[in-house]
Amino acid sequence: MPEGHTLHRLASQINRLFAGRTWRVTSPQGRFDAGAARLTGRAPERAEAHGKQLFVHLGPDIWQVHLGLYGAFSFRGDESFSGADTLGAPRTKTQTLSPEYDEAGWIVPEAPAGAVRARVHVPNGWADLRGPSKCQVLSPMQYEAVTRRLGPDPLHQPDGQIDAALAAQFQQNLARRRVSVGAALMDQAVIAGVGNIYRAESLFAEGISPDVASAVLAEEQSAALWARLTAQLRDGVAEGRIRTLRPGEERRQPQRRHWVYQHQGTPCLRCGEIIRMRELQGRRLYWCPGCQLVP
Ligand SMILES: [Zn+2]
Repeated sequence: MPEGHTLHRLASQINRLFAGRTWRVTSPQGRFDAGAARLTGRAPERAEAHGKQLFVHLGPDIWQVHLGLYGAFSFRGDESFSGADTLGAPRTKTQTLSPEYDEAGWIVPEAPAGAVRARVHVPNGWADLRGPSKCQVLSPMQYEAVTRRLGPDPLHQPDGQIDAALAAQFQQNLARRRVSVGAALMDQAVIAGVGNIYRAESLFAEGISPDVASAVLAEEQSAALWARLTAQLRDGVAEGRIRTLRPGEERRQPQRRHWVYQHQGTPCLRCGEIIRMRELQGRRLYWCPGCQLVP
């Protein structure tokens, strides 16, 4: 599942390519016909990500997209329409296109391939949304209700800074949960944008066992965890992928990007203990029993 860094890149790309421009919106697959009719012919003002959710604001309406496990946007257009080809679940790259334009000067898009829930189109390109777990138009009240249930997003902090209020909110959310910290980090009401990889890698980096009760984490530990997740998510936005091993830390494994995620059964790069994996609430949890001791 795409984690928060992907959604923030997606929001930036939508802002760059679509904000302030009148777009056409369709639902080639038909499942978003009513929503598309409401959004088409208008100009999106801005897109924002909150955790794993994307919100595109158009006047009072808000287009909400949750990519879920399989969702992705793919972007196509002429040379002036630049950016990532796809953002979301991995998809095959389609061929570069030799653009054609209609009489109004709008690029003629390729026929939709597969189940395209929504297509947004501007004169120099278009984007196709496939496989989202949520795609709907919200009223301001509904938007307010959805975002109120989301925990703080570390990527909502000013560049290079820690927002003390958001960090405190995270700490209070952890303190109120009666689950392990490993389970709490996956709860989008505790912290928005963290998925399986950031959970494993942030707890490893801070030497916190995923089995520690969320409510008993010391204040310094939750502050350190917030700062760690902030740094890791920012790196993810900058690099376009999750890479928690920094240059020089790969130890003769140049392709390796993570300390523990998907490295079960192999020795920990830091302490040599064997990395473990088990299921927790249907998702795989990875940790090093040597570095992440239960106190
Ligand atoms: Zn270790």
